[in-house]
Amino acid sequence: MTGVAMMLWSIIGQPKALGQLQRALASGRLASTWIFHGPMGVGKYRTALAFAKCQLCPNPLRRANRGPILTSLPEDFLLVEPCNQCPACKACDEQVHPDLHLINRQLGGVYDRGGRSRRTTLGIDIIRGEMIGDDSPDHRVESKLYKHSQLGRGKWFIIDEADLMQPVAQNALLKALEEPPPLTYIVMCTGTVSDLISTIRSRSQQVAFLPLPSDVVVQYLAQEGFSTQDAGLLARISENSLGRIASWRRSEASTTSRKKSSKTSSEGDIIAVANRLAHAMDHLLLGQAGAGDVATVISEGAETMAGIFVGHDPSASKDRSTRDGGILMFALIELWLSDRLRSVVGRNVEFAMPSTVGGVDYARVKPCMDICAAAAGQLDANVHQPTAIMNACVSIEAVLRGAL
Ligand SMILES: [Zn+2]
Repeated sequence: MTGVAMMLWSIIGQPKALGQLQRALASGRLASTWIFHGPMGVGKYRTALAFAKCQLCPNPLRRANRGPILTSLPEDFLLVEPCNQCPACKACDEQVHPDLHLINRQLGGVYDRGGRSRRTTLGIDIIRGEMIGDDSPDHRVESKLYKHSQLGRGKWFIIDEADLMQPVAQNALLKALEEPPPLTYIVMCTGTVSDLISTIRSRSQQVAFLPLPSDVVVQYLAQEGFSTQDAGLLARISENSLGRIASWRRSEASTTSRKKSSKTSSEGDIIAVANRLAHAMDHLLLGQAGAGDVATVISEGAETMAGIFVGHDPSASKDRSTRDGGILMFALIELWLSDRLRSVVGRNVEFAMPSTVGGVDYARVKPCMDICAAAAGQLDANVHQPTAIMNACVSIEAVLRGAL
């Protein structure tokens, strides 16, 4: 996401939300507090960044909505877009603009001196440190919210996964929302509005983001250079979340050649991992491979994905990332199982996990699904990873071969 020039009308699949924001920009009276809500990975955070950039750019351009570019607005509507040339725009793209404050759970690593945080919440320390300052008499932590905007066009605070704010953090923030300093804008991105306390909701403009239709995701990925099968499989694995797909691609920082496009090498990785795993499952079913072989494929796939996760967030725990990679592997096996079952009942899906073995009946698919779910739970709960993977593979082998 860093280094990409973003336009407020270029986020795909959200014409209604973008139309609402364009109208707000055109009105010249921006509300100070916003809630962007909707499913994970459909563009809320990217939209928030683009929205902030439109307002932080000192020379925004106007472009007629011809085509129309945004179907939710009339063709003669003048869309606001950042100039993409000025130092402020460049600083926004690089996420180093001094008036653009990005708040996410990765900051947990900064505020957690003991290093034990799993970074699954946005604690009061993050909200104090990044926004409101502390309320001790000597104000040891200054309030970024009440400082003047450095470049004079206001300050933006974008909170990703705002539902991770603990109630005490939400309540602390609420005080600031009651009387926001001038030219201060806060955007909270969240899954559902009800995750935020009602007093925050009632003070915020709400913008709804919709789930992305799979054909929109497939079309987008195809434009990025994927084959239709790979694009379709990625859409299925990610449940149509472009954000999730982005997290499975190597970050630009970790790819040496940006020109050679990170997508061929990086997005290929999850597809390559999925194909390899499907192949191993085929062999297991046919008795041409054993539980140990599949366990090896799972472990290697988990390692590959962990490398990608750490590339996005170098401060992330390697162990945690490998566990997340392992959980993803079991989700892929569940998809393979579900596709084999559909094959039995004659309901083949488009973009299925690749397989040459045909169908597997419900009596065998169901226990295997349960084994996968249990294994994923164990990985999440810190059970010794190689043991959990091996046990699951032995059990799956026994079920598929009819020994259970
Ligand atoms: Zn600009």
